[in-house]
Parts: sequence; structure tokens; C-alpha cells
Amino acid sequence: MPITANDKLDVHKIRADFPILQRRVHGKPLVYLDTAASAQRPLAVIEAIDGFYRNHNANIHRGVHTLSQEATEDYEQARAKIAGFINAPSKLECVFTRGTTESINLVAHSFVRPSLKAGDEILISWMEHHSNIVPWQLLCEETGAILKVVPMNTRGELELDTLAEMLTERVKLLAVGQISNALGTVNPVSEICTLAKQQGVPVLVDGAQATPHQAVDVQALDCDFYCFSGHKMYGPTGIGVLWARAGHLQAMPPYQGGGEMIRHVSFEKSTFNDAPGKFEAGTPNIAGAVGLGAAVDYLQSLGMGNVARREAELLAYGTQKLSQVDGFRMIGTAAHKAGVLSFVLGDIHANDVGTIVDLHGVAIRTGHHCAMPVVQFFDLPATARASLGIYNTFEEIDILADALEKVLGMF
Ligand code: PMP
Repeated sequence: MPITANDKLDVHKIRADFPILQRRVHGKPLVYLDTAASAQRPLAVIEAIDGFYRNHNANIHRGVHTLSQEATEDYEQARAKIAGFINAPSKLECVFTRGTTESINLVAHSFVRPSLKAGDEILISWMEHHSNIVPWQLLCEETGAILKVVPMNTRGELELDTLAEMLTERVKLLAVGQISNALGTVNPVSEICTLAKQQGVPVLVDGAQATPHQAVDVQALDCDFYCFSGHKMYGPTGIGVLWARAGHLQAMPPYQGGGEMIRHVSFEKSTFNDAPGKFEAGTPNIAGAVGLGAAVDYLQSLGMGNVARREAELLAYGTQKLSQVDGFRMIGTAAHKAGVLSFVLGDIHANDVGTIVDLHGVAIRTGHHCAMPVVQFFDLPATARASLGIYNTFEEIDILADALEKVLGMF
């Protein structure tokens, strides 16, 4: 089947927006295929952060002076952009965090922990990132609750019938990734939320890998919590978001204590701000929020439908092209996948593959991708992973394929 380029996006124009793509690595043009670990930043994001520090920098919310008011306005405007991006009913439901990991830990401590008892269950899936495993494990160890894992098949697809059976009244939360960073599987999260809702089980969606690749609508998904990170979606590190239903946020106790999250403090007792302030103790990453707002503007200027189509074309091309390399075996062959090509090359260790292709300027990731149970499932020590972003080209996939041929030639 011929693969046609998506004419809605001009990849050369997009590439010009990302200064780092001009770099050379080991004397070769950089081929950046590690977007699932962290995306590169467009000039619009870099300039938004630079502009904030040059022109508006001050602490937020507490100041009467002009800079403080401007900084507050910038920070709150970013929150409103993010709410629009995920179609949240209100920006007050969007809590700024350090990233997906902190968003999940916040839900673990403030939503689940207060009522979790021995024998209760928390349900996750086999393909979760460590950040959607370990917080639940810690809670279970503390309370005697049980962590249950929804199995997957050898293509890397969740077994939905089993999931439905596991959704009993003992389950206090289902936490599931929308897109697997290790396999690229796109989980049917909307269907999963419907199943959970029938049993009255709240759902947390780890959207870290979804927000850069496809349009997200938390109302259409009908989940309870949605977590994501700025740096995966072309924004800064150290900033992320927890979206939660207003009713949950209202009922949840604070996660951390400190400035900003209070209404009144005395030595006898403190009262707390309404959400989202209640969950944003201390001075937040103001410039990070501004940068994330700029990343949202940038993605929306491309159109998330166009982004998803473009990456689907690259994925189809990459799957076809790399499959022609001797000894290439794709790990993760779900019917519905996003831009992740996890693979092994014969019996060559993934770290050797990654090190050698780097000499050709190609950046891929190797290892367990913070999802050790996934590599264990496939009985592998590690995989190599090429992951795609809006700036990647068909030619870059050809360069990876050539580099893999050179790896084969060395063994
Ligand atoms: N979940 C998934 C699916 C991820 O890919 C990642 C990052 N690799 C995380 C969670 C954690 O994100 P962060 O490190 O930004 O908190």
C-alpha cells in the first residue's frame, strides 16, 4: 500500500521551529527518535519562557505590584489554555503539578489513601509505566490493600473481558495508561471507563503519551482523573497537570502543606483554599506553566487531528521499513498503536544497538522504558525503542534502517 504524506502539515516548516534539530551528533545530522521519553521544544515555547523571565517574572497570587499581577495573569491564562486543550469543563479542575508522576501520587495520597482498607483492591494494567505502578504498591503495602493487574495478550493489547470480570465492588480505583510508552498500544480508554462506571469504580487515566499525539477530551472519556506531563508534549520539564472532577477535588484533603494552599493559618488550625490552589502548595513552576501554555498553542496551531494522522503515516512507514531489516522483531503489535516502534534485533543487546546507531546521529532509547513488567512479559532483558514526533520524516526512518544494517554488519 503506498503511503502518502499528510499534506496538512509541512514537516520542513515544523522542523524549522525546533532549533535543536539543526544539531549534529558524531558529525551526523541529529535524527531524534526519542520523543516518547521527552519531546524537543519549539522556538515558541523557548521564547515564551525567555519572555516571561525577561518581562514579567515575579511571584504569583500574592502581590499587588504590576509584575506580580502580570505573572499571575500569565500563569492562570496557561491553566485556561490547558483546560481548553483537554476539554475540561472548568480551568479550576486543572491542578499544576511537576508532571504525570506527581499527578498520580497526588491522587494516591489524597483520593485513594484516606478510605483504603485491607482487602480493598486497586486495578492497574500490565503495560503501566512505573509511575502508575509504584505509588499504588506503596499504598497497598501501607494499608493491606491488594494491587491487581489486568493481563495483556502477546500483541500487547489489554484483555478487556478479564478486565470487566476484575471490576468488582472491592476495586477502589482503576488506573490505566491511554497509550503505552513501551509498546505504543492505544488502549480503548473510553470503553474501559464505561465498564468501570457500570461498577461504580473511579478511573484514573495516565495520559502522558496521549496528549502529544491525539486530541484528548476528558468529558468524552468520562474518566475521573487525567494526568499528563509538559515535557512529553513539546513543553518544559518540571510541569504537568492533574485534571479531576470538581467534586473529587472538593472532597480531597490537601496533598502537601505550605504557602498558597491555605485560606487562614493559626497555630491551632489552618483552613484551606479551594481547588486548584489547595493542591498547589508553595511557589509553583510559573515559567513552566507559561511554557506549557505555549506548547498547547503550538499543538493547536497544527491541529491535533493533523498531528495524529501524520504520526500514523510515519508509524505505518516505519513498521514496513524496519520489518525489512534482518532479525528485526517488533515488540508491541496491537491493532491500534501510536508512534512507538519497540524492537529487538536478533540476539544483539538493545544497549549495543542504541550505542551504535548513536554514532550515526540516531537517538533511540534502550532498556525497560520504566515498564519492567512489559519486558519481563516478553521474556527480554531490554528492547530498543524508536518513538515518533511531529518533526520526524520518512527519510529519518530510512536513516535508522540503514544504521540498523550497520549494527548487523558489526556482529
Ligand atoms: N506514564 C507514561 C506512559 C510515561 O511514558 C511517562 C514518562 N515516560 C510517565 C508516566 C511519567 O512521566 P513523568 O516522568 O513526566 O512524570
